[in-house]
Amino acid sequence: NPATGKFDVSFIEGDGIGPEISQSVKDIFKAAEVPINWEFCDVTPIFVNGLTTIPDPAVASINKNLIALKGPLATPIGKGHRSLNLTLRKTFNLFANVRPAKSIEGFKTTYSDVDLVLIRENTEGEYSGIEHVVAPGVVQSIKLITRDASERVIRYAFEYAKAIGRPRVVVVHKSTIQRLADGLFVNVAKELSKEYPEIKLETELIDNTVLNVVSNPAGYTDAVSVCPNLYGDILSDLNSGLSAGSLGLTPSANIGNEISIFEAVHGSAPDIAGQNKANPTALLLSSVMMLNHMGLVDQASRIERAVLTTIASSSKNRTGDLGGSATTSSFTDAVIKNL
Ligand code: NAD
Repeated sequence: NPATGKFDVSFIEGDGIGPEISQSVKDIFKAAEVPINWEFCDVTPIFVNGLTTIPDPAVASINKNLIALKGPLATPIGKGHRSLNLTLRKTFNLFANVRPAKSIEGFKTTYSDVDLVLIRENTEGEYSGIEHVVAPGVVQSIKLITRDASERVIRYAFEYAKAIGRPRVVVVHKSTIQRLADGLFVNVAKELSKEYPEIKLETELIDNTVLNVVSNPAGYTDAVSVCPNLYGDILSDLNSGLSAGSLGLTPSANIGNEISIFEAVHGSAPDIAGQNKANPTALLLSSVMMLNHMGLVDQASRIERAVLTTIASSSKNRTGDLGGSATTSSFTDAVIKNL
C-alpha cells in the first residue's frame, strides 16, 4: 500500500480459539515491527440460494490484498451448511495445499529428525463431489483427474523445491490400480520434469511411501512430495503425527494462481476456547510461511527462530498440549522476549 508503505493483508481470526491465537500473532508481529497492516475480515457465513457462502466484504478484501492469514473456522452442523474452508478454497481457486512437517526441539516424538514437505492437489480427485446411486446398494463415486489441475500443482511442486533448495520431487500415486487417473498425474509430472533438469523426479507408490515415511522419515529431507487430493489428505496427517505429535504445531498454505491463504491445520478447539490455553504455534508458523511467500524472509526467520527457541527453552514456556504450563499469553510474551 503506497499510502502507508506497508503490506495490506486480510486476516480472518476465526472461531473458538481463533481470536486468542490471532492475538498472539498480532502481538508478535507488532513487536517484530513487521510492515503489515491487517485488514480484519468477518466470514460469519451467510446464505444465498440455500447455500452457505462468505460475505462480500471478506471476498473483496482477499481479492484486493491477494494474501490472507486465517484462524480456524468451526463448521456449523446441519443441513445446507458447506464447510467454509471448502468454500474459501473454491472461491479463490486454491489449488495447492502445502504442508511442511518438521520436528520441534522441546517436544519429544518417535523421531527427532523429521523434515517433510508435502503438496496436496486441492481441487479435484476424490473430492470432486460427484457421487450417485446406480441401483439400491450400489453407489459410484467419481475421482476426477484433469491434466490442467495436475499440471499446475506439479509445476508448483517443482517451483517450490527449487525455491527451498530441495533437489528431488517425489510424485506419490497408485497408478498400478488407478491406471488412467493416477497414470495421467504421473505422466504430467514426467513431461514437466524436462523443464526442471536440476531437479530429480521420482515416482513412488503410496503404499511404499507410507512404509518408507514411518520407518525412515529422514529419507525425505531432500524432497518435496506431491500427490492427488485424498492421498495428500491422509499422508499430510501422517507426516504431522510423525513430526509434531500435536495439532497445535502444524502450519499450512493454500496456494492459488494469485491468491494464497495461510492457516493452521488444526480446528477451532471448542474444548479449550476462551481459556488462554491454546498453542498459537501452528498459526505463527503459518504466518512465517506467509512472510516467506511475500519475500519478507528476514522477519520470517526472526519470528520462526523466536518461536522455536521459546518452545525448546523450558516446559514453563510450553503450552499444555506440549506438556508445559504456559498460557497462550505467557508463551506469546516469551516469544517476544526471544525476538
Ligand atoms: P480441533 O483441531 O479443533 O481439536 C482437536 C483436539 O486438538 C482438541 O482436543 C483441541 O483442544 C486440540 N487442539 C487443536 N488445536 C490446538 C491448539 N492450537 N492448541 C492446543 N490444543 C489444540 O478438531 P475438532 O475438534 O475435530 O474440530 C473443531 C471444529 O473445528 C469443527 O467445527 C471443525 O469443523 C473445525 N475445523 C476447522 C478447521 C479449519 O478451519 N482449517 C480444521 C479442522 C477442523
